[in-house]
Amino acid sequence: MKKCFYCNRMIDTPNTISIKNEKIDCCDDLYSTKARAFINFAERTKFFFAISVTASILMAFGPLFPICSNAIRTILLCIGWGLLGLTICVFPLATPETFQLLGVKKTIRLVRVVGCLLILITPIWPMIML
Ligand SMILES: [Zn+2]
Repeated sequence: MKKCFYCNRMIDTPNTISIKNEKIDCCDDLYSTKARAFINFAERTKFFFAISVTASILMAFGPLFPICSNAIRTILLCIGWGLLGLTICVFPLATPETFQLLGVKKTIRLVRVVGCLLILITPIWPMIML
């Protein structure tokens, strides 16, 4: 039995599409269209995703480098985690293994929840740091 790449349900008669030399099974036309759109979106945006994630992680670890004042390090920390949260909300990209395991639909939801949590905890950093 195969699993739908998009909604992760078991399917008897998969609607197989091929994207970039990879075969993907989906349960119907709608989901195969959505899966294709998502993979194209991921291909187009992964460059910006990588830059944004790298920048936010560097800022989030700013407090480890004691070069600037505590206030500046706290601001960097907030921007870093906030930007990371925002980035993964806008570009809900995960590892191929995660998509295989959960399907696109659940993975996007999970990643967005994590992103929102990261944004929500941003105001906590100044309380800890200052
Ligand atoms: Zn499906």
